[in-house]
This record gives sequence, C-alpha cells and structure tokens, in this order.
Amino acid sequence: MSVRRTNSQKQILSLLKQLQGEINAQDLYVKLRERGETLGLATVYRGLKALKLEGTIQERVSPTGESFYSLISKDHQHHLNCVGCGRSLSLDICPIEQQLIELCQAKNFQIFYHTLEFFGLCHACQNQQPN
Ligand SMILES: [Zn+2]
Ligand SMILES: [Zn+2]
Repeated sequence: MSVRRTNSQKQILSLLKQLQGEINAQDLYVKLRERGETLGLATVYRGLKALKLEGTIQERVSPTGESFYSLISKDHQHHLNCVGCGRSLSLDICPIEQQLIELCQAKNFQIFYHTLEFFGLCHACQNQQPN
C-alpha cells in the first residue's frame, strides 16, 4: 500500500515519534504550535483520523472519555483504568495469546493493533470506599 501523506500528517507523525508515548489532540496541537507549525486544531483531528485509518497510530479512550494517540508499536501497553479517579496504570505485559491473533487472521482480517483495558478501582480509591 503506498501512503501519500499531507504535510500536517507528517508533522503529527514526527512529533509522535519524538514523544514515544501517548498524547491527546489538544496537547499535540499545543506542541505543534510551540514548534512553529501553523496547523489548526481541526487539521490536527483530521490528520490523526487519517493516520489511524492508515494503521500508523492508535487511539485510546480514557475513563474520562478523552482520546489519547500514540504510534502503534510492538511494545504497546495495556492499562488498568480507575473509574474513581480516572488514572491509568500501565501493565508491563501483553496477555494476548498468539493463538488469538492467528484466529483473527484466519478471518482474513488485517490487524493493526489490539487493545485490552481493565476497569476498576485503584488502591487509593478502594480505601476511600465506605464499608
Ligand atoms: Zn483511583
Ligand atoms: Zn497486547
């Protein structure tokens, strides 16, 4: 698949590569402006959507409904999301079995990435629960 990217998409990608983590669209927009880029927020959203469709970046929606974007990489992370305070703890391992990946591929589905999220209460929030 040949990919032709717009300038704004290239700028978004280069920033995401530099960050090596996830970022929301608003912060991404601010960082691009700091770099002297003159993209509008709507262009940032459009660029993120195009890169997502292309299978280059992934979107994670936090418990507070906010979207975070990051480059798709082999050493991705899964999260434990606290519904109490909205914090996300990252898991160091990927529990997805190779067998499951193969099962999806057997359906002739091209997998860009997968997500696995856990929701509950963090240690601090558990202690705040009335008995
Ligand atoms: Zn919490
Ligand atoms: Zn995984």
